[in-house]
Amino acid sequence: MYLVGYDVAGVHRYVFEPVRPVDVLGGSRLLERFAVEAAKVAARQGATVIYSAGGTGLFQVDGEKAAASLATKLTQTLQHLTADGARCTAAWVESSRDFRAGRRRLAAELRAERFRVALGSAPRVLLPRGTWPSGVCEACGREVRTASRRVGDRGEGIGPRCRARYQAAGGPVPTIAEILGGEGDDVPRGAVLAAVYVDADELGRRLAEVASPDDLRRFSERLTGFVRDAVGGARTALSPRPILEVAVGGDDALLFCDAAQVPELTGSVWERLAGASSDLGVRFSTGIVLGEPFLPLRLYFGAAEEALRAAKGRSHATGRSHVGIGALIAGPRGAAQDVLGGPVPQEAFLGSGGVWALVGRVRAIVPAQRAGLGDDLALPSREEAKLAVEHRALRDKGVAHALSGTRSLAAAHGLDHLALLRGVLALAGTGGAARERATGEVEQA
Ligand SMILES: [Zn+2]
Repeated sequence: MYLVGYDVAGVHRYVFEPVRPVDVLGGSRLLERFAVEAAKVAARQGATVIYSAGGTGLFQVDGEKAAASLATKLTQTLQHLTADGARCTAAWVESSRDFRAGRRRLAAELRAERFRVALGSAPRVLLPRGTWPSGVCEACGREVRTASRRVGDRGEGIGPRCRARYQAAGGPVPTIAEILGGEGDDVPRGAVLAAVYVDADELGRRLAEVASPDDLRRFSERLTGFVRDAVGGARTALSPRPILEVAVGGDDALLFCDAAQVPELTGSVWERLAGASSDLGVRFSTGIVLGEPFLPLRLYFGAAEEALRAAKGRSHATGRSHVGIGALIAGPRGAAQDVLGGPVPQEAFLGSGGVWALVGRVRAIVPAQRAGLGDDLALPSREEAKLAVEHRALRDKGVAHALSGTRSLAAAHGLDHLALLRGVLALAGTGGAARERATGEVEQA
């Protein structure tokens, strides 16, 4: 018996290369399709599928020749599906009685194979020297234009890799404007887009413990089932408003929604994933990023990954699921920050004393006081800032109300109070202020 595995290199880079959501979604669908195709290819070769999802796969097959041929077919299948946009490495090892030891050897072989491929192949030239700007793909800017498509009322020249993505998206994909409750390309003023990235903690270590192929297959199937169910539930919870779901791994979910709907979405997702925690002993962490619409989705993803990493660190240290929250500020590279001064436990996010309720309280403060509060918090010295904020609270009931909430939340979770207040103010300002302004103007008109 032989173990055959594949590993798609640079999944995120491939998926987020283009700018338009339809192309990003198309790339993610191509990778999902590859996972299914890979299982079919393996079955045709007489192999047993252990799992195939999220850019990795594992199979069992009789005979070295069959193993080698399956590995070759897997890499070819991906190249063909994505028009050479994504590549994977595949390797095989003779399986030993100890399934775990066999998988460790396979993992080492896959790493070695990746190096061999990287060293042995000539760099891919996608844009030959001297390509005119008019000859460059308008969707990703990284390949030569070979085809055209219609976007709204204009034509757009795209290359083969983006064409494959576009075709895979298959049919209408919600626009960012539609996700935010607008129509076509009209984003409601002041609307804020959120990326919610939920991922299982320490999954690699957990999977490495599974001792038999059957157990591993069952575990993977059930985990994938829980995640799919959670995403489906979120879709229903937010319906009729669409959400954008980008698959970046087998057992995680990256969802784009209106920031105002984050509590509904996270509530629904967490509730369904609680089953995975109790049944499979898998814990999930969450990274959330709020930002202006129309920034490239890859910036959201990068920031959400950052927030998720911070959350995972806290989840690991405390043994409880945490949420990291970042905000994107438009700039050449985008700027993400852990706005609350650190990740908060999942249960401190929703509910009456939770982060989201505090954002509401801060939004309720009259705009002039809120602006003043921002100035107070921006004072260079911590002591001065603290005094100024407390002084303001004495004069304004709304400020006092918001302040008491942030103080007790900070105390309950060991967060820095001023950092938390600053973060909640930022979250309230992200969209909240602009939205009120917009509504005010409409009323005046
Ligand atoms: Zn392209």
